[in-house]
Amino acid sequence: CGIVGYAGNVTTACGKPLEVCLQGLRRLEYRGYDSAGVALTAPGMGSVAVRKKAGRLANLETDLERRPMPDATVAIGHTRWATNGEPSDVNAHPHTSADGHIALIHNGIIENANELRFNLQTEGYAFVSGTDTEVAAKLLGKVAATVIEETGKADLFESLRRVARMLSGAFTLLAVDDRQPDIVVGARHDSPLVVGLGEGENFLGSDVAAFVAYTKHAMELGQDQAVCISADSVTVTDFEGNVVTDSKRFTVDWD
Ligand code: GLU
Repeated sequence: CGIVGYAGNVTTACGKPLEVCLQGLRRLEYRGYDSAGVALTAPGMGSVAVRKKAGRLANLETDLERRPMPDATVAIGHTRWATNGEPSDVNAHPHTSADGHIALIHNGIIENANELRFNLQTEGYAFVSGTDTEVAAKLLGKVAATVIEETGKADLFESLRRVARMLSGAFTLLAVDDRQPDIVVGARHDSPLVVGLGEGENFLGSDVAAFVAYTKHAMELGQDQAVCISADSVTVTDFEGNVVTDSKRFTVDWD
């Protein structure tokens, strides 16, 4: 339902990635939701950290006050409007890869989730939720491992593009990986994704409300495009990996 992502500077980010996600989710509350969650990571963390709760954003915030999350360089946040699987803590996003390296959030409905889940289960993958989204998360983990095997290094951007090509239905996806703790990657098909352009930081959102408190400079992602943001770079490609250079930039003129 509501999506936000943040990439900040390795030396200064600290608590900001989480703060930006919570602020963004608050601004996206108007869309309606039944659960909320965040994931973050930083160099040396060894995995992604995830926190998610059914119900109001306040439930998540109370939990975060009780048990603070570590400082981070990148983070993603999601408010869920359940389509596949009841509203619950486990069904809330983010969902994680089997190896715990990747966290993923999703807006929309993945139409071929049952078929993909069946294939993954046949290969031994276990599922904890009833969502279509967890299928994309497990698949991304598998594809990311294949990319590492093929090329000798983690490439979350390429991995997400490969996953996007395997999905049917509507999706905006964002993912983070502790092996590349300086980037957030995204992809969209029949569901919106907007980039917020900052200075020494960049943002992603399902709409500009997600980051309007931090920057008025934005860029629209086209149909079937993927994006990779870091603190000081934004790269857009199609799902094949061809770089897109004509993305539409605009200035947000409301508060
Ligand atoms: N289909 C996904 C789910 O049910 C995402 C729903 C949404 O857009 O929030 O978990």
